Amino acid sequence: MSSPVAKRLSTLGSLLHGVYEYNVLRRFRRVPLRQLVIDVTYRCNSRCVMCSIWSAEPQPELTLAQFATLLADPLFRGVERLMLSGGEPTLRPDLVELVEACFECMPSLFSLSLITNGLAPDRVISLYGDIARRCAERGIRLSISVSLDGVGEIHDRMRNIPNAFAKVEQTLEGLGQLRKKYGFYLGVGCVVCHLTLPHLQTLADWCLQRDVDLGYQLVGFHDTYVNNIAQQSVLDFTEDDRPALHALLQRLASGRSLRNPMASYWADMLHMYAKGRPRQSPCAFLVDSLVLDAAGNIRVCETAANIGNCLESGSCSKLYFSEKASAMRSAMKSGACLNCNSGCMVNIAWRKDLFKYLGFLMRGG
Ligand code: SF4
Ligand code: SF4
Repeated sequence: MSSPVAKRLSTLGSLLHGVYEYNVLRRFRRVPLRQLVIDVTYRCNSRCVMCSIWSAEPQPELTLAQFATLLADPLFRGVERLMLSGGEPTLRPDLVELVEACFECMPSLFSLSLITNGLAPDRVISLYGDIARRCAERGIRLSISVSLDGVGEIHDRMRNIPNAFAKVEQTLEGLGQLRKKYGFYLGVGCVVCHLTLPHLQTLADWCLQRDVDLGYQLVGFHDTYVNNIAQQSVLDFTEDDRPALHALLQRLASGRSLRNPMASYWADMLHMYAKGRPRQSPCAFLVDSLVLDAAGNIRVCETAANIGNCLESGSCSKLYFSEKASAMRSAMKSGACLNCNSGCMVNIAWRKDLFKYLGFLMRGG
């Protein structure tokens, strides 16, 4: 199944199966787990203004053997998309072995997403090069996103690290070389906030010159995970930011079509920010996704509270299918999700939630 045609057929099959699960199966029972985010470590070598993970007390983290034991749970056999997050994932010295453990426990896996802050170029290029080779050998689609919030000094300021931009530039250069060899997707992810908004066009031009996609994430404020409520006064959009913010959202929302679900998400965000309309975009976290963190905790989405610990409960399946998890998803759907600006699971959810998406497109967003 490694020829391009076979891969396309397999992706189409998975998509159709997803449409069935979102529109039929889910009415009767909990859909099997299809997307998994693993926060492989909470250690971080950055000091970002929009996140306090780097300043938190170090916690004991699961060893490779403990991760392997948890991942042997049958729950993970249906996982199709895996995202490794953190902290900074490359700070785990056994990251490659952890990826191999995931490959072993997830026979349905066809897509792996990696992120990095790119602040340790040699380590990132070496580790991600190794993983890229393994993905290519197994026919697993790989995407790598490097955090970059602006060109030059603004990035150093956002990350609170001297020469952060120069380091990221070096990382992208090295990953660009690897991309030629292994053919993975390489993108840049930036945080859109009061501080970065005036610099985003320069960043977009910079990425275009280097043939690197630029993904945007609107700043969000949470007392969990990134724990950044204290930074809201510095980072949140002001009244004066509105024209530039709306113009950006309008640009991102253009070209809405069946093949471009993210444009619909941006149209939704434009309505949310300009008119105060509650979020309409679906989110795969509410249906068939989960977060497993470096301590073995399970969350229904990155910003949700822990619903339990897999090591302590002895089973990740039990937690995923638990009444507590269902109750939390329902409460979020009619609560936190209505004001959530996260786009990280939208692309997947819009495609599977096809009928809702068609309705959204027909109403003009
Ligand atoms: S946003 Fe990412 S890179 Fe920055 S401190 Fe948090 S975990 Fe580290
Ligand atoms: S919409 Fe936001 S708050 Fe709701 S599940 Fe998705 S990421 Fe979490």
